[in-house]
Amino acid sequence: MTSTFRLGSVAGIPVGFHYSHFVLLALVTWRISSGFLADGYPDWSPWVYWATGALAGGLLSVSILVHELAHSLVARKRGIVVYGIVLFILGGVSELQADSKRARDEFLIAVVGPVSSFLLSAILFVISLALGGGDSPLEAMVLYLAIINLLLGGFNLLPVFPLDGGRVLRSVIWAVTGSYLWATRVAAILGRTAGIGLIGLGIYQFVSGNRLGGVWLVFIGWFVQVAARRSMSEETSHEGSREG
Ligand SMILES: [Zn+2]
Repeated sequence: MTSTFRLGSVAGIPVGFHYSHFVLLALVTWRISSGFLADGYPDWSPWVYWATGALAGGLLSVSILVHELAHSLVARKRGIVVYGIVLFILGGVSELQADSKRARDEFLIAVVGPVSSFLLSAILFVISLALGGGDSPLEAMVLYLAIINLLLGGFNLLPVFPLDGGRVLRSVIWAVTGSYLWATRVAAILGRTAGIGLIGLGIYQFVSGNRLGGVWLVFIGWFVQVAARRSMSEETSHEGSREG
């Protein structure tokens, strides 16, 4: 994933932006404004929905960045060169020079992403409670971000390679069997199966009338499936990147 432009760097890690991230931002803004906010807070004027939705979308990008930074910082600490983080249509990706050499490193690098999302979610829930749980745009936005970070952590923990959960699973199989190759094979087969399952579910959703949700699932399924297949052919090379 090459970034279209560079946003800057955090803790010495370059952060880039791929133009496709605008598509995600637009979709998220639209979903928050016309879904979460319009349903939960019916008394606002239209521009407040859109302004709050756009700001929440931007802060979701920051949340994704926090998740990726956690991966990148732990990877760097474990001696892996981090090229940078790129925000793209499916979220973010930490570009690492190589896969981990030890199962323990792989486990720690993978698990810290969802853990950071859960922590962020917990902090936002506490802030939301402290604000009083009213129906102002600020309170709605904090609550939304608390929920979305919880979902972000949960989704990434699905035991499907190349998601974080799939990497955690691979590291556990790797530690137990002592075979990186075997662990990668099992994780890749699970990833491909889940990817094909997601594509099937997406087509079903699309046909049942949930057009956007269906297309999105097909897209994620295709991505998971391709990444899982690629991990098999790359298992002996030293290229690696961390998705999600
Ligand atoms: Zn992750």
